[in-house]
Amino acid sequence: MKALAILGSTGSIGTSTLDIVDGLPEQLRVVALAAGANLDRLEAQVRRYRPAVVAVTREVSARELQRRLGSRPSEVCWGPAGLERAAAESGADMVVSAIVGAAGLLPTMAAVCAGKDVALANKESLVMAGELVTREARRRGVRLLPVDSEHSAIFQCLGGNGAARVRRLLLTASGGPFRTRPRSTFASITPEEALKHPTWSMGKKITIDSATLMNKGLEVIEAHWLFGLPVSQVDVIIHPQSIIHSLVEYVDGSILAQLGVPDMRVPIQYALTYPERCENAVPRLALDRVAGLTFEPVDREKFPCLDLAYQATRQGGSAPAVLNAANEVGVHQFLAGRIGFDEIATLIHKALDGVPGRPLTSIQDVLDVDREVREWLERH
Ligand code: NAD
Ligand code: MG
Repeated sequence: MKALAILGSTGSIGTSTLDIVDGLPEQLRVVALAAGANLDRLEAQVRRYRPAVVAVTREVSARELQRRLGSRPSEVCWGPAGLERAAAESGADMVVSAIVGAAGLLPTMAAVCAGKDVALANKESLVMAGELVTREARRRGVRLLPVDSEHSAIFQCLGGNGAARVRRLLLTASGGPFRTRPRSTFASITPEEALKHPTWSMGKKITIDSATLMNKGLEVIEAHWLFGLPVSQVDVIIHPQSIIHSLVEYVDGSILAQLGVPDMRVPIQYALTYPERCENAVPRLALDRVAGLTFEPVDREKFPCLDLAYQATRQGGSAPAVLNAANEVGVHQFLAGRIGFDEIATLIHKALDGVPGRPLTSIQDVLDVDREVREWLERH
């Protein structure tokens, strides 16, 4: 029986993870839950799964949750320390890192430092601090198991062989809702339009990242750290059907792909049960009903965020953390109606140019850069 701490339990990945737990009651149990908002959903989850530890972002939410739960035995804690407690001190064997954004970094690192295997959905922590997180994971013998569907696909295609005989990794991208929309109309894109993803149902932030293709940029950086290949060996190809989740090309020209319906429960379950494969209730892919699998190159001028991610990785040091923070600010401002869709990339470009780069030697350094970028963008 594997004990799980699920961070971000009320979100899209979190609720899909609990769905997998429901299907595998002999193998998986929940010892900790953590979430930011949606107290009603969290309360229902606590009543159902009875975790030892529950963490929320704010103290007032913790008090409110405690009041609602009455004499139920879960320990309710809050803030960054609460998240760290849920990750590292709840008796979990594995931590599901599914908080969105920079807030996921500290608890992910806490899990690694406590020697817990991590099922990693929070790609932002590798973008911000990939070197520090992966170095610590190697030192502690901790597994970072990819939840992101592309990285799960690559992990499966590598089949435990490592990256030695690999020519390149090929990440597939659906292209998002604006793949065929003319660039000249990008300034008038509304949040409602951008929140309509053609193939995946996800949280708001990653849905906007998918529309700008920054999600793919973040995934290039994530792949670089997870699989130890330079970004020059990580390519992106548009595949609108989202059936092939990614591919690995070997030195002899052989290409391996992983296919399936676009349903995050498949990669989540594989991360939770690895190296086992288990039955589940996910609909099967009916290959004879797939009308076609098509591929096309990315229009890099239309989607400049992708190249910004490559550029930031080549710059190294704090640049990817700057990219990540500026992107979070940009997405937030776009959703709030304060900037246009096309200005998200402009804002990231400005931050990469304007915020001086430096080496990152600790998680505190990374968090300082994250905060400085947000402050810098308020002034510029
Ligand atoms: P979501 O917005 O649906 O859920 C986010 C969760 O994090 C919620 O439970 C929220 O309450 C919690 N949270 C947010 N801020 C918090 C804070 N400060 N402290 C504690 N909890 C906090 O997001 P999602 O779509 O589930 O994505 C989660 C992560 O998984 C992201 O990093 C995303 O890039 C990654 N991911 C998601 C998908 C997907 O299909 N949704 C696929 C691949 C990767
Ligand atoms: Mg993905």
